[in-house]
Amino acid sequence: MRCLFCKEESHDTKGVEHLIPESIGSKRLVLPKGLVCDKCNNYFARKVENPVLSHSSIRNLRGWYQVPNKKGTYPSVLGWIAGTDIKINLRKSTDGKLQIIAEKLSEQKLVDAYHSGISTDSDFSPFLFKIEIDPPQKEMSRFLAMMALEALALRYVKLGDVNVIIDHPAYDAIRRFARYGEGVKHWPYHRQVLFSMDAQMKRPDSGQWVQAGFGHDLIVTPHPETYFTFLLYGVNFTINLGGPSIDGYALWLQEHDPLKRIGVKLIKKVVDGKEVDFLEGSFSSNAGANYDRKAQLMKSKQRL
Ligand SMILES: [Zn+2]
Repeated sequence: MRCLFCKEESHDTKGVEHLIPESIGSKRLVLPKGLVCDKCNNYFARKVENPVLSHSSIRNLRGWYQVPNKKGTYPSVLGWIAGTDIKINLRKSTDGKLQIIAEKLSEQKLVDAYHSGISTDSDFSPFLFKIEIDPPQKEMSRFLAMMALEALALRYVKLGDVNVIIDHPAYDAIRRFARYGEGVKHWPYHRQVLFSMDAQMKRPDSGQWVQAGFGHDLIVTPHPETYFTFLLYGVNFTINLGGPSIDGYALWLQEHDPLKRIGVKLIKKVVDGKEVDFLEGSFSSNAGANYDRKAQLMKSKQRL
């Protein structure tokens, strides 16, 4: 096996790389050992994932939804209570219940918190803090670029020949941007709120209503171009695997609906006097790919 990013021999790899980092809640999607070598894996953790995941917009989200990091601790939530800026720490007590510990912030921490774009609520309730998901641009685009190439490679692993992606020059630009920050200064991505952060969805296995967390997919447009989408609590991030341009996706959006593509319908209902988003649909994993095939077929018929 060779590494997807540096192309070096990676048979002695010890670490495990997750497609979606564990610290935002994903334990399931593990990449085959060696697809990302230890050196690249460690680099990504420090220089790409950490700046995004420790940014207050995502950190608050993780605290809010009680997603522990790798060490099993909960990230703190920054907020404001009746004129005092505070940091809320979540801890799990011995009986397994979450405890909330609030502490006052120092001047410097306050400045950092204000600059992070968190909006706050004046009512005292830690669970009334509003969270915006808008992480720093360059780090976020490298983070998306990394996951995009991994998702594409994973698809080729399943097809039986991942070397196609490792050696293909068409992916060298995104590879180098993700791994070394080289090439362009900014690799643009598209950010769109598809549904509210506390939207509910029915679990396909149990039928239970749960919070819609995250998801990812590859979109092949009729052009054709390949895009990677990452849906994080209602915010949809999209990046182009073929080059630093998002124009083709903007065009695609004029005729296509990202939720319809994955077979999901957004329904608003009033629950206890509050409007709540519900996502209804099958959540079938190949709905998106089927949708793309149909769209391509329609396009080729139009051309005839
Ligand atoms: Zn490597």
